[in-house]
Amino acid sequence: MCEGRPHRFSRASRLDLKYPSPVVSNADLAEAFFQLAESHPPGELRLALLRAAYAVFDNPRELDGVRRLPETVPLEVLPTMAMLRGCRGRDAVAAAAHRLAGPHRLRGSPTREGFLTAAEVSRVVADGGGLDPRHLRGAAHWHTRASDGAATLEAMARACLRRGATWGVVTDHTRGLACVNGLDAEGIELQRRAVASWNRRRGEELWVVQGLEVEILEDGRLDVPRTAREGVLLVAAIHTGLAERRDQTGRLVRALQEPGVWTLAHPRGRLFARRAGIRANWEVVFAAAAEAGVLVEVNGFPRRQDLDPTLIALAGGAGCRFLLASDAHHPRHLAFDATAVALCSQAAISREAIANFGPLDHLAAGRPDLAVP
Ligand SMILES: [Zn+2]
Ligand SMILES: [Zn+2]
Repeated sequence: MCEGRPHRFSRASRLDLKYPSPVVSNADLAEAFFQLAESHPPGELRLALLRAAYAVFDNPRELDGVRRLPETVPLEVLPTMAMLRGCRGRDAVAAAAHRLAGPHRLRGSPTREGFLTAAEVSRVVADGGGLDPRHLRGAAHWHTRASDGAATLEAMARACLRRGATWGVVTDHTRGLACVNGLDAEGIELQRRAVASWNRRRGEELWVVQGLEVEILEDGRLDVPRTAREGVLLVAAIHTGLAERRDQTGRLVRALQEPGVWTLAHPRGRLFARRAGIRANWEVVFAAAAEAGVLVEVNGFPRRQDLDPTLIALAGGAGCRFLLASDAHHPRHLAFDATAVALCSQAAISREAIANFGPLDHLAAGRPDLAVP
């Protein structure tokens, strides 16, 4: 039995890479800033410390020994930054943080555990391990202006092309409980035409398949009728009841039996520094996904990183295959599939078990309704 509880593991031993580790990693530095922020009451100082924490967490390079700090580090926390960066090792960082703390006690949070910093992603990817984001052929699970994305389908597809993809799956939200801006029946039809128009003109370079990110309802059914699932790849996800601590195994397992479900998206629904995600018996969920032939998503959006390497390894052991998702809401976000690659590398998942490294015709196997060339 494996509950959806974040796993505590020491940051010192979590990245066993050939690439040299920094004396003070961004992970330790960012965690110190998060804890310092929370040691202060709400106000300007707390906000500045939080902004510094995120600036460090999202910086693609380790800051150890680097002179230039990310521009988003607020000026008022530069002395704190200098003091923490001057420490030799994580114990020294923790001790310095204690000296700098505000009125509340410093404490970690399970909602921040088991996430890779952007610098760790770069290090894991540089270290190789058989998985290289440059070899990805499919860019899957991204959004457009038709739901809550920032760009048009054309702009997103062009950005996928620039990243070297040969196929893509657009997955805008449906208009359910979870997304007021989602697609209704007319929106789905309009997008179908936009996808067909792209494929007519540029399908030889990048073939786009229409998908939908659908909501798994409380009883495990989906928020789209069966008639709307024809010719569409469904990524099914939970976006409601995520903060509740009840077990949601049944809800997920029933959704996996629904016709047309292609991928189980961000299975836990965790959010960095916000919530740990749902509880479920993941062994049962992954066995059901493998049995149903539904892909398990590894969501690389930095604030999601859902699943983490421990659960990815559990799913791999259960015989699941994976879809790597950037969950991009902007062309810039498409690069987040590298985070998913890093998470899979850490779980020692093989390239063959990941749909995005394969060609389009693998994707369409058993789905004659997809009209793939
Ligand atoms: Zn989602
Ligand atoms: Zn999404």
